[in-house]
Amino acid sequence: MSFPLKEQALQVIYDLYDREARRFPVACRQECSTCCTHNVLATTLEVAHTFEEFTEDRLQELATPVPPNSWEGGLRPQLTVNHLAGYCLLKKEPPAESLTRSAAPCPFRNAHGCGIYETRPFACRSMWSRRVCPPDGKAEMPALLVTLNGAIFQILEHLDAKGLYGNLLDLFELFDDSDVRAAYEAGEELEATASLLKTQPNPGFIVPPEHRQDIARVIGTLWSCDVGGLSFREALSQLRPGH
Ligand code: SF4
Repeated sequence: MSFPLKEQALQVIYDLYDREARRFPVACRQECSTCCTHNVLATTLEVAHTFEEFTEDRLQELATPVPPNSWEGGLRPQLTVNHLAGYCLLKKEPPAESLTRSAAPCPFRNAHGCGIYETRPFACRSMWSRRVCPPDGKAEMPALLVTLNGAIFQILEHLDAKGLYGNLLDLFELFDDSDVRAAYEAGEELEATASLLKTQPNPGFIVPPEHRQDIARVIGTLWSCDVGGLSFREALSQLRPGH
């Protein structure tokens, strides 16, 4: 699948998710930035899509400089979502990840809101709470939405075959190099780095029995969407033969 078709598939996912998420009660307001920290995770496809939409100068302008040492305690995952799902399906214990992290503000947050709102990654779109979060508290998300978010993260990672997964800021730094971006958009496989992991195929969805019917309906709708004249499912199956 070419890069423009992957972008099209990405937009199909975002649109479907927005329609589905609207069914859940939400207390979030655009002016709230409690969850806008430097701990956002994303795929290369999502960040490449942002670079396509914004010029590099505009991106530099939008992002406030990352404060020195802001990475201390920040989130850099050891496993991708699909890798973790593989452990769950095999009923194996995944390697422990540190759960304590700092929460410096996301550099894309500015006085007017999110500077890359139109192309913000799924991790930002899926931040959702049915009650206003206390400043130091957690979002309160319906269990079905948590399951749906997990399934969408798995599909996004599968879609980004040959790409990388990790912290949004590491991905922006990687794509600051226009040669790397050009190679990625031409379909070349990216090498994992010290902080970015190779994306993995979807080993199977992690869905509890009580959510199977709802998730099957959403995934069924997604599979039948059109991507460049193919169904979403057909387009996806071409990306990773054998999966
Ligand atoms: S990219 Fe935008 S929505 Fe996401 S955390 Fe940063 S400011 Fe918030």
